[in-house]
Amino acid sequence: MPHVANTSSHDRNVPAALFKQLFDTTAESMVITDRNGIILEVNQAFSELCGYSAEEARGHNMNLVGSGRHDQAFYQEMWHALRHHGRWEGNIWNKKKDGSLYPAWLFINGLVDQDGQIAYFFASIRDMSELRKRERQVAFLAYYDILTRLPNRTSLLKALAKAIIHNQESGQVLTVFCIDIDNFKLINDVFGPSQGDVLLAQAAKRLQSLLRDGDSLYRLGGDEFMYLMQETSDEAAVYLMANRLLDVMKEPFLFEEGRKVFLNISIGISNCPADGEAPQELLRNADLAMHKAKREGKNRYAVYNQSIRAMQQQRFRTESGIRAGLHKGEFLVHYQPKVHIASRKTTSMEALIRWQKNGRLVRPDLFIPIAEESNLIDNLCIFVMENACSFLGTLKTHQVAVPISINISPRQFHNLDFVDLTEGLLKQHNPDPRLLEFEITERTAMQDAKHTLRIMHNLRQLGVALSIDDFGTGYSSLAYLGKMPVQTLKIDKQFIDEMEDNDGIVSTIIAICKQMRINVVAEGVEKETQLAQLAQLGCDEAQGYLFCRPEPEDIILRYLQSHGIRSPL
Ligand code: C2E
Ligand code: CA
Ligand code: CA
Repeated sequence: MPHVANTSSHDRNVPAALFKQLFDTTAESMVITDRNGIILEVNQAFSELCGYSAEEARGHNMNLVGSGRHDQAFYQEMWHALRHHGRWEGNIWNKKKDGSLYPAWLFINGLVDQDGQIAYFFASIRDMSELRKRERQVAFLAYYDILTRLPNRTSLLKALAKAIIHNQESGQVLTVFCIDIDNFKLINDVFGPSQGDVLLAQAAKRLQSLLRDGDSLYRLGGDEFMYLMQETSDEAAVYLMANRLLDVMKEPFLFEEGRKVFLNISIGISNCPADGEAPQELLRNADLAMHKAKREGKNRYAVYNQSIRAMQQQRFRTESGIRAGLHKGEFLVHYQPKVHIASRKTTSMEALIRWQKNGRLVRPDLFIPIAEESNLIDNLCIFVMENACSFLGTLKTHQVAVPISINISPRQFHNLDFVDLTEGLLKQHNPDPRLLEFEITERTAMQDAKHTLRIMHNLRQLGVALSIDDFGTGYSSLAYLGKMPVQTLKIDKQFIDEMEDNDGIVSTIIAICKQMRINVVAEGVEKETQLAQLAQLGCDEAQGYLFCRPEPEDIILRYLQSHGIRSPL
């Protein structure tokens, strides 16, 4: 047991002067009044808080610091409590000498005389303004977005729930516009997140400028906004608003020393009650419609309907199917030779991914776009690259050296990590980089000129060759093509098919490639007549069912051994 010293009652008496000193020096504002509320004494902290010195305060009624914000009933209740219970405490607004008001916590205690009557009141006043400010900040953060100062998702869900009930009663239609900035990730990657924020704030301002009475705009995070149209008069009003939202983004955005950047948006629209009567449902459906707008080419709007839902469910199934398929080894790679027209020998091969699912081969165009929308495209790309490296190894054991080209999807190519990913794979599998080529579609190459050139040069430094795929479909500027470090250009099958009627496009592309010393390959050649025509136009190489379909490694190896190769090394 710890020993407790026994002190005498004399020792425990604190001198009165000490109380006075405590009163004067405590941080808490204190006042002593008579029973009528006339101030007798105030302490230093009171003077600091309220602005009145002790001399100025003495003799005045306590309402010297009253704000005038409270009604008579408030004071009646206070006096009632003081008279009957001898104390009162609560929130109150007070006024300083300079006239400013502040929230305070006031505690008043009655001090009784020998007869047991209240003779004095002792009040302490705590300034609550800091706390209130912080409370307001916390509340702001809970309901608003700091960057754009727009209300956030929580606010939206609240407002939407209220608006839905209101509209159910009034029978009016409510419209939700889900707005997403196109390619914003790329902007963040290229200019950095702080410049991205500057652009987001500007975009928010523009969207806000369209707000009509009763409508509201929210930022859901990232580059996603929601526009809530409270009372939609008719369909025309919805389309009009969608077009105004698209139009307001058209002017370039200015940032960073007058630099200009263009931002587009994609919009998805859902209506209440037609497309859902719960907030989450309406938002999800607007979001699905927005993704449809993106798929259809971005910078446009799409309205939700049932077919979107069915399509979305199909996408979800495919996505989880790909994930499981990668795990179960359902993916494989076929190879298709590209042939030197004059000698009919193979110059290189294209790797084409295959998905063997339930005994059937699923076409890549059915799953590549879906894999692109999730990160699964990374896994597929790595899978194909590893397969190609391994096939190069197998070929080497047969003393065969033929380059393999790999299709790179737009999303992959514009991913900042793509060069690192390639470098890592080269280190890990150690193929001769001259035997690797990346095929990038013309559209991908044209998406962001500066960025594209930088990545292309970085890849070239790793020793990898580059080719432009599906040429002729993307309206490239030829001047720009000349700047790109590409070795090969593939003419899209569509032009080869049309060639018999009109060879204008094909002959022009071949002529340009000759001039730029770029190797040219005709895609999808199926007939001898096409081949003869291409040979006449001076085309170097061709690829197509005429020579060989995409096939597994063993068949391709036999093809190479029987038809011969024209090695570049
Ligand atoms: P692509 O890169 O333009 O590939 C050429 C497509 O044409 C291939 O279809 C090929 O099998 C087909 N083809 C080749 N010769 C002929 C012919 O004479 N006639 C006809 N009718 N078709 C021919 P596939 O393998 O179905 O691939 C379709 C698309 O899927 C490819 O178009 C490419 O964009 C994409 N893809 C395929 N594999 C991959 C991959 O590993 N990664 C990525 N990112 N995309 C891939
Ligand atoms: Ca290709
Ligand atoms: Ca192609």
